Amino acid sequence: MKTDLKSLTLPELEAEMLLIGEKKFRAKQIYRWLHVKYADSFSQMSDLSENLRAKLEENYTIGSLKQVKKLVSKIDNTTKYLFELDNNCIIESVFMQYSYGNTVCISTQAGCRMGCTFCASTLDGVEKSLSPSEMLSQVYEIEKDKGETVSGVVLMGSGEPLDNYDNVIKFIKLINSKEGKNMGQRHITLSTCGLINKIYELADEDLQITLAVSLHAPNDMIRNRIMPVSKANPMDKLLQACRDYVAKTNRRITFEYSLIKDVNDSAENAKELAEKLKGLLCHVNLIPVNDVKERDYVRSTNEAVKRFEGILTSRGIETTVRRKLGSDIDAACGQLRKRYKDEKR
Ligand code: SAH
Repeated sequence: MKTDLKSLTLPELEAEMLLIGEKKFRAKQIYRWLHVKYADSFSQMSDLSENLRAKLEENYTIGSLKQVKKLVSKIDNTTKYLFELDNNCIIESVFMQYSYGNTVCISTQAGCRMGCTFCASTLDGVEKSLSPSEMLSQVYEIEKDKGETVSGVVLMGSGEPLDNYDNVIKFIKLINSKEGKNMGQRHITLSTCGLINKIYELADEDLQITLAVSLHAPNDMIRNRIMPVSKANPMDKLLQACRDYVAKTNRRITFEYSLIKDVNDSAENAKELAEKLKGLLCHVNLIPVNDVKERDYVRSTNEAVKRFEGILTSRGIETTVRRKLGSDIDAACGQLRKRYKDEKR
């Protein structure tokens, strides 16, 4: 298989040019075409000789995604995309507009193998871990399609980012590179279901990204029931890893907590959670769970959400309830992809 140049860092691209007998500075030109001008063919690279373009064509590829579906919310311009990968896998990405800028939620895997019982992405397991190029292309394609600058990325689409660790780290380095898109690390959020060893590894990368941890429960009993991954990653060790992460990086952690009626939304649950998070530099994001028709979970009532928020806040835990975007386009967590795949079968 030919190497995808879009997945290479600039130093790697420079090494590649030397390897095929070209001057090192060519790499910078090509890198610019790929990551600033978003070229998807070598023929667009007009400042390279025809000779070189032919040589590149012969030896390399430029990864690209095919847009197969797009839904635009009439309420808030949230836009959902389905893209097809080279191997026919389908992935989902979302464009969101906030007062502070445009953010894209990207997938890191086609499907997921973590098995959270409330999530639609995991229903068919994982089909593919995405390459750095496939993650970048989600952002680049959406920027081109919308004609607007994207200033932030959240790794919260399908997949477990820390289960595709090397590619995700490389993606972050590429999108952050000053010769490329130059997106600030502080505008990047990585969301994990809580793989403890990988959180320690990530802490050692010395990145300024925001780490979000999907907690969804105040104790292992409830967490084991809805997140199978919790059995190998128990809460006391997970929260210790989070404390160590904060100590190492000085970055505040976001905890995601999807509220499911009668599963994890009682006053008791809120008190237990507040107790466990005491003293941890963090922020809790409450998300009324999105109904997944394959599961019989129901979202918490507004009263239960308010109560939960109130208990956390009164105990000094900074808490917000996530605003729902794109409610008219079924924007929740892998549902569009699931439906598209089911229809095709
Ligand atoms: N695997 C990573 C990132 C992808 S999921 C993780 O677990 O964090 C992104 C977020 O969406 C997670 O917090 C996940 O638990 C949440 N999520 C999944 N399905 C959901 C649903 N039906 N309703 C609300 N949140 C959901």
